[in-house]
Amino acid sequence: MDDNLLLKVQDFSLSYRTRKGDVAAVNRVNFDLKKGETLAVVGESGCGKSSLARGLIRLFPRNIKNVEGQILLNNRDILSLDEETFRKEIRWKEMAMVFQGAMNSLNPVLKVVFQVAEPLIVHYDIDRNSAFGRAKEVLSMVGISGAFAERYPFELSGGMKQRVIIAMALITNPKIILLDEPTSALDIITQENIMNLLKMLKKELNLSYIFITHDIALTSELADKMAVMYAGEIVELSPVEDFYSNPSHIYTRLLLDSVPTLRGEKKLKSIPGSPPSLIDPPSGCKFHPRCPYVMDICKTEEPPFYKISENHFARCYLSEDKKV
Ligand code: SF4
Repeated sequence: MDDNLLLKVQDFSLSYRTRKGDVAAVNRVNFDLKKGETLAVVGESGCGKSSLARGLIRLFPRNIKNVEGQILLNNRDILSLDEETFRKEIRWKEMAMVFQGAMNSLNPVLKVVFQVAEPLIVHYDIDRNSAFGRAKEVLSMVGISGAFAERYPFELSGGMKQRVIIAMALITNPKIILLDEPTSALDIITQENIMNLLKMLKKELNLSYIFITHDIALTSELADKMAVMYAGEIVELSPVEDFYSNPSHIYTRLLLDSVPTLRGEKKLKSIPGSPPSLIDPPSGCKFHPRCPYVMDICKTEEPPFYKISENHFARCYLSEDKKV
């Protein structure tokens, strides 16, 4: 086994129960993550990206129906652990998460240093002074200097609050951080600052990220490899360079065609139609009702993963010999 391999996700699926039927939010997902590596997971809203992230850290909603597969962290199947062991040994300690919109859920009546230190006091039984000392260290690492650490959340800008949220994820020294749309609520300049911070932390602390985003333009800054999700499935997995230079699944190509570039005459295109219901998804290739290249086989038979090159796979019949 590769010594650098940190996480191996195998045939991971999860579904929710709803009044209208069962929702297959994540369907047989497979990927690896090495130490210090970033996997960006992209796709339209409702494709299962956030469900995947929450599933990895086992924060399931009440209506969870089924969870299957294996999540191997350092070769240990953390999906089979009982909840108490997972909470004590894995969640926050090995794997932490920056939730979408979390900066708006900081407690307005507690100073930020306390909010960052709290997990050490409550879960690790570390005395208050030591916990505050460590919290200040981590806050300083994310660019919140001493005086600001003693402030209340309402005294901080959006970017500073997001730095506090990142400090909260780092306080227990996790090896993997799940970033769920970490910059979506920020203006473009602050977004750039937070991306630079994430890059710096990744390098300094040798962190691994799973970066969930609908904003493809951001991925080139942080990602080493890309997973494109559609209707709960990964339809293309590739090194980041191949994602941009040799996209193979038709959905990936259309996603890229919908992203503006700074230079060039590129005409922006939107993807026709809308994502399918995960209660009753289309047969065959789930993208077939929207695909401009659909063939008869696409409507009835699920395409396999075709190997395009080393570490590059796509689940589209046209990837077989790159006919398009
Ligand atoms: Fe389109 Fe068929 Fe490829 Fe699906 S498998 S993306 S329907 S060409």
